[in-house]
Amino acid sequence: MTDVLIIGGGPAGLSAAAAIAARGARVRVVDRDEAAGGVPRHSHHPGYGLREARVLDGPAYARRLVERAIRAGARIDVRATVTDLRPLVGGGAEADITAPGGRETVSARAVVLATGCRERPRSARLVAGSRPSGVLTTGWLQRLVHLDQGSPGTRAVVVGAEHVSYSAVVTLAEAGCRTVAMVTQDDNHVSFAAFDLVARARFRFPVLTRTRISDIHGGDRVTGVTIERSDGRRGHVECDTVVFTGDWYPESDLAVRARIDRDPRTHGPLVDTRARTGTPGVFAAGNLIHPASTADACRQDGKRLADGVASWLDGSAWPDAWASIDVHSPLLWSAPGHFVPGEAGPIRLQTARPVNSPRFQVEQDGRAIWHGRLPYIRPTRPFALPAAALAGARGPVRIRIA
Ligand SMILES: Cc1cc2nc3c(=O)[nH]c(=O)nc-3n(C[C@H](O)[C@H](O)[C@H](O)COP(=O)(O)OP(=O)(O)OC[C@H]3O[C@@H](n4cnc5c(N)ncnc54)[C@H](O)[C@@H]3O)c2cc1C
Repeated sequence: MTDVLIIGGGPAGLSAAAAIAARGARVRVVDRDEAAGGVPRHSHHPGYGLREARVLDGPAYARRLVERAIRAGARIDVRATVTDLRPLVGGGAEADITAPGGRETVSARAVVLATGCRERPRSARLVAGSRPSGVLTTGWLQRLVHLDQGSPGTRAVVVGAEHVSYSAVVTLAEAGCRTVAMVTQDDNHVSFAAFDLVARARFRFPVLTRTRISDIHGGDRVTGVTIERSDGRRGHVECDTVVFTGDWYPESDLAVRARIDRDPRTHGPLVDTRARTGTPGVFAAGNLIHPASTADACRQDGKRLADGVASWLDGSAWPDAWASIDVHSPLLWSAPGHFVPGEAGPIRLQTARPVNSPRFQVEQDGRAIWHGRLPYIRPTRPFALPAAALAGARGPVRIRIA
């Protein structure tokens, strides 16, 4: 039996490990990859650590988190995949872990799920056509180029126009592959205007808005795609690579196996402001609960949940009643999805459409209990309201843009 088992050694899991181990608990992190660090490990561009006012590339950021966790006393096992998770009577869970040395079952008084999220692959996006090789997600592309030193092809179509899509263009260029078009069904890209300007000036590709890929062609390898505009016009683009970017989905298979309550809006585990799931002793953090936020947001989750884990290990009771947090359109979801009145904490939200200078209102029983404004919000870029938004709440709340 260990005190705390953390499943997933990305920014959320590693920062949780450092914060919990620093309080003296025995912490074990398991990650299925060859090394810990999560997505930043194979994301070589700068842009990590902005909140620490120290901009790093992904691998440097990942190394720093690993070093901090180890220095705090956490044990990190890599090439160790958790294949099953079963809640224990009285709290905590036991996990089946498969590693090169064999299979073991580990019991833990507290478990932190930090398995991240993934991009929906082509199969889940229901794109018609043949099934040639050369169809990737950004995650696969970055692993291919940066971890396996592989080659993606020579002409790529990138599907999606969010931050990660531009990251894909950079990785393709580093591997000698030209982006011939970026395709999005939206009216505009949803990344920073500066990213779009710089990337298009440097790599010279068009962003085809209100356009989708309707067919992928090719035998062994992709030879081209059919694109279709919202007005029905169609065209053909020759390419040997298609990269599906964004459209995130939480890596929640273990939560499903363990029958942990999930939030139907995010499909990740339903958590409260202290990262507690509905299963005593099981916490969840990072992009598993708010796909897909920045690495710093996930790192902050990990740090924040250490208090809750410590008080659970000290014998505090697990709540058995929560008040819901509902959101009103264009808001899509909130993480946390519910809370214990009196336990305020920041709330991450996702919007379906861009809004400039939105004024948020938190309502309880139809009465406004908090107002706040942000400069802007954009789809695919989760944002946070401060803990004060929930501070006065004593029951179920609804968040709307007034
Ligand atoms: C291409 C790309 C570019 C990005 N660029 C930036 C950027 O510039 N700046 C920024 O702030 N953010 C960026 N991000 C986002 C950032 O990488 C994520 O926010 C962050 O990595 C999420 O952290 P996490 O710990 O929640 O999950 P992850 O980093 O995804 O880590 C999850 C870990 O869990 C492990 N795991 C999953 N299932 C199991 C299992 N069953 N058993 C054992 N281990 C398991 C995985 O191996 C993985 O290591 C980028 C993301 C991508 C994809």
